Amino acid sequence: MNQIINKAVKVDASDRLQQGQYSDTIEIISDTLPVTEGTIARSIKISGRGVHSGKNVTVQLYPAGEGSGIVLRRVDLKNGHRDIAVRYDCVELRKLCTKVVNSFGTEVSMVEHLMCALFISNIDNVLVELNAAELPILDGSAEQWLVLIEDAEVVRQNRARRYLQVRGSVESREDDRFCRLLPHKKNALAVDFRIDFSHKVLGQQHLRLFGEPHKTWRSEIASARTFVFRKDIEKLREQNFALGGSLDNALVIDDDGVVNPEGLRFEDEFVRHKILDLCGDLYLAGMPILGRIEANKSGHRLNNRLLKALFENKNNAWREVRVRRSTALEECHNVSKNHTEMDQLVTI
Ligand SMILES: [Zn+2]
Repeated sequence: MNQIINKAVKVDASDRLQQGQYSDTIEIISDTLPVTEGTIARSIKISGRGVHSGKNVTVQLYPAGEGSGIVLRRVDLKNGHRDIAVRYDCVELRKLCTKVVNSFGTEVSMVEHLMCALFISNIDNVLVELNAAELPILDGSAEQWLVLIEDAEVVRQNRARRYLQVRGSVESREDDRFCRLLPHKKNALAVDFRIDFSHKVLGQQHLRLFGEPHKTWRSEIASARTFVFRKDIEKLREQNFALGGSLDNALVIDDDGVVNPEGLRFEDEFVRHKILDLCGDLYLAGMPILGRIEANKSGHRLNNRLLKALFENKNNAWREVRVRRSTALEECHNVSKNHTEMDQLVTI
């Protein structure tokens, strides 16, 4: 569990210069959140199949410099516009997955499981080369991405890591479906997710998660697989979706239950996968979110609309913060007494 002292301090100009920061940035105290940006130590490669296109794709991840972010590069294109910075504002809304498109129309779909793996791994900068328009589905979860990233090792860089601290309430909603962001008094990410499929097998599931991404999220959601109802598969294929789908990369559900012979990895694997998707989608904010999320039957569209609402919000709904270790607490104690901004946040 995070052990975070709930105080915020403003750094003075000399402090900022020492840390190489040039903007007026609030710092929070945490002994668990990474202080600096991260990338991978060496490049890694994997091949697989696109679940919708059915096409084989090879992906190679490379270390990337500080401040470069997460960039997809379509090496199958020769047009010079093959890079896509993976951000919430380049998402083209689709029902079945999250697709990003650059201003020249270069696109990559199914980014959410890789993005969740990068979120869990605390990676900020990576170049992802691929030779198709869809990332591979692998086993339908983030597990194989994480095994790959763990093999490549995560290394911390020198630049201070930016975090998005939620300070107000922001929501995206369609009827009874919603996704809502609220402040979290412990400066962590917490998720409260409900699904209701009105299906005798799937039905209602509810899960609350709180903790460090590389521990709690790694063990509780990373291996939860995507799922599809058998009755929908033919319809999807007629629309050129799910052409690469199989029992190896998705849970298939019919009226009697789960078709996959190996069964479920978790009793509530479905809601866990929805949280996986949510964390992947929200990592398109460009920095990790420190806040509480309440979601009811949310999906990719509402997840993305939540980020758009957050960044459009002029009402101080968020601010950028950086992290300082508690070893520095004593020396900034006097400052923090005068700047207890966190204490004024709504606590839940
Ligand atoms: Zn998914």
